[in-house]
Amino acid sequence: MRVLLIEDNASLATLVTGGLQRAGFSVDGLSTAADARTVLGTISYAAIILDLGLPDEDGTTLLRDIRRRRVATPVLVLTARASLDDRVNALHDGADDYVTKPFAMEELAARLSALLRRPGDLVGRRVSSGNVSLDILSRQVTIAGMSCAFPGRETALLEEFLQRPKKVVQKSRFERLLFDDSGGVASNAVEVYVHRLRKILEKAGATVEIHTVRGVGYFMAEKKTA
Ligand code: CA
Repeated sequence: MRVLLIEDNASLATLVTGGLQRAGFSVDGLSTAADARTVLGTISYAAIILDLGLPDEDGTTLLRDIRRRRVATPVLVLTARASLDDRVNALHDGADDYVTKPFAMEELAARLSALLRRPGDLVGRRVSSGNVSLDILSRQVTIAGMSCAFPGRETALLEEFLQRPKKVVQKSRFERLLFDDSGGVASNAVEVYVHRLRKILEKAGATVEIHTVRGVGYFMAEKKTA
């Protein structure tokens, strides 16, 4: 799931991005409200994490604008302003949750998952194909009834395949999903992750496999039984 982090403190942004990626999220990072306005006009995110103390304007102004434009994306406010008034005001302005700095990465990831759970269709939702199944919220992967340890990017890749059984997922989509907007993606980077995912699936005895559509992308389908 792709989320947008709007935070001008570079070291905190790096920390949060890393933590969320480990939790299986794909994270785009921006440091100004102006950039956020531009991006939000074109890209739809599963959730937005918003710092209130931004260099070019107050985050609450951006938050109010987002809501005025009827953007329903859940917004989690991340800020050092910890007073009751600040928290209540942020919620009134359209925030869905509020985490004050300093915070534990685990709590932020858990709250983000809880926010994404709210649209009823996501509650306890699993996506499966063959004997492979992923819990969208807990990011827990099960293969042949066994719980498997899965790295974040491989989990994101698997989720795309499970969401679109037998449909070809374009390589460019994976590039966007796996590598955010930081640029400089090696041309074989997606192949590398697909290769790793194939290995994991094979080793765990999955009944699905990933097929390559040369020059286009990949699709996942159940293995044909002999
Ligand atoms: Ca700030």
